[in-house]
Amino acid sequence: MSILVGNIRLPLEASEEDAFAAARKKCELSGSAVRRAHLYRASIDARRGRITRVLSVLLELDSADAEAAAVQRIGKPDVRLKKPVQEPVPTGTQRLEHRPVVVGFGPGGLFAAYVLAKNGYRPLVIERGQAIDSRDRAVEAFAAGGAFDPCSNIQFGEGGAGAYSDGKLTSRINDPLSEFVLRTFVAHGAPEEILCRAKPHIGTDILKQVVRRMREDIIRMGGEVRFGCALTGMIQRGGALAAAVVDGQELPCERLILAIGHSARDTFEQLHAQGVYFEPKPFSVGARIEHLQRDIDRGLFGKLAGHPALPPAEYTLSHRENGRACYSFCMCPGGQVVAAQSEPDSIVTNGMSYHARDGRNANSAIVVSVDPSDFPTADALGGVAFQRQIERQAFRVTGNYQAPCQRIGDFLDGTITRRAGKVRPTYPLGVQYGTLEGILPDFVVRQMQGGLRVFGRKIRGFDAADALLTGPETRTSSPVRITRLENRHSRQISGLIPCGEGAGYAGGILSAAVDGIGCAQEILQNFCPLEERR
Ligand code: FAD
Repeated sequence: MSILVGNIRLPLEASEEDAFAAARKKCELSGSAVRRAHLYRASIDARRGRITRVLSVLLELDSADAEAAAVQRIGKPDVRLKKPVQEPVPTGTQRLEHRPVVVGFGPGGLFAAYVLAKNGYRPLVIERGQAIDSRDRAVEAFAAGGAFDPCSNIQFGEGGAGAYSDGKLTSRINDPLSEFVLRTFVAHGAPEEILCRAKPHIGTDILKQVVRRMREDIIRMGGEVRFGCALTGMIQRGGALAAAVVDGQELPCERLILAIGHSARDTFEQLHAQGVYFEPKPFSVGARIEHLQRDIDRGLFGKLAGHPALPPAEYTLSHRENGRACYSFCMCPGGQVVAAQSEPDSIVTNGMSYHARDGRNANSAIVVSVDPSDFPTADALGGVAFQRQIERQAFRVTGNYQAPCQRIGDFLDGTITRRAGKVRPTYPLGVQYGTLEGILPDFVVRQMQGGLRVFGRKIRGFDAADALLTGPETRTSSPVRITRLENRHSRQISGLIPCGEGAGYAGGILSAAVDGIGCAQEILQNFCPLEERR
């Protein structure tokens, strides 16, 4: 255990030693009482015209008892005890007949497989897309005007949806396993700074390397990863999982972690037809907004914009009106807009950035919440039908994979865009200027217009005429929930463990990874490791 001392505010030039001294002072502890001090989190506050470092420090005393007594004596909300990172360990005693199967190799499946492999369970991973290098080639070929590959694209393939992302590792969940995820990333090549940044991010370039190294480790520890094959069904006996069906072939197993992401529409349909319980769930749709990063820096940092100590500015915006939320999502400072469809003849946008975040533009999704009452059908997959309508309509309007694009000034006035102004679109396949009306539902357009006007009052220039909207963005989170019981098993088939974002239990890289670990823990708690390692 250690004492976590938060909200230490110091001038920009303050050193780590200054932070430790401030932490000790806050806790009224002498230097000799503290065995070890280290930095836990650091961020920068550039509001009110000056830059302040905001830090948290961990202090270790001689014993856990001394730490607990000190925290009680101090009695301040920003001084609390912090437990050490807990590694998942096997405690189960039952024997598994077969290796656990993990379907999908995004963050959920990756961490489930990693924890299983590390503890001697020799998982078998099934991933429909290709390993990262061939996936990269497929993504680049498509971006350069080549054929769309329905198995290896921005959504599918090794690393899952997060592989081409900003690699933001923030999450609203406050799970102690988050730190295990970050430490595992660092152990596989991510920069150590992610351990103490208040808003850690890796960038697509580093994330892809980390994923490759984790796969190599999984194999070294006895796991197996099969790329280019897909789960197409499952066999159950008496309500218990008996086998996975992979490209038509039966693969006997008693535990299957289903981490297929939010875009595995064919698999949703196959499993739903086999009686797996799905329910529709709310998500959001809209479009990617792009500004010049320097304008966002100016809007947020004012006269401090451009200061070398400041990172590219980030924002989170939201506005609620008429019972719906309009908000910014997945902001990528210095990033680029990507083509994120998983089906042919449709258009979907999203955003990514490299570790350096040094691109000219800032982008984020501006999206509006939608729920099952908006969907064209009342069945479990109504949300998928809603997404498809929008994505295919966009393709019909442009007639190819170029994305529809509109200047904010025109979007707010309801007029058609003819050409870009000072902000140039980064969407790799090119854009066609026009209007998003007729592609996004009317209520979404109206709500976005209202939201953008409000956001323009929160960040100067946010609703500037030359900012761009490229869309549509429809894959913000899963349109379904594969409902699970408290023990994480599916409602009908025991042994089937829905996991991650596609199952509706996570949103983002970190929370999907944590959910993957939780699903692996279900196996660790019930079964002993398989005896033989390869
Ligand atoms: P996924 O990552 O979607 O992985 C599912 C995997 O299952 C895929 O690899 C797919 O190929 C495979 N699969 C699907 N069906 C089958 C089948 N039948 N058989 C075998 N394999 C199958 N989140 C953040 O936290 N920070 C970000 O900066 C961020 N940026 C993003 C940028 C982009 C462009 C995108 C698309 C997403 C971004 N996200 C970001 C969201 C994040 O990537 C997802 O929340 C996360 O990847 C979900 O993890 P998952 O493991 O549940 O599913």
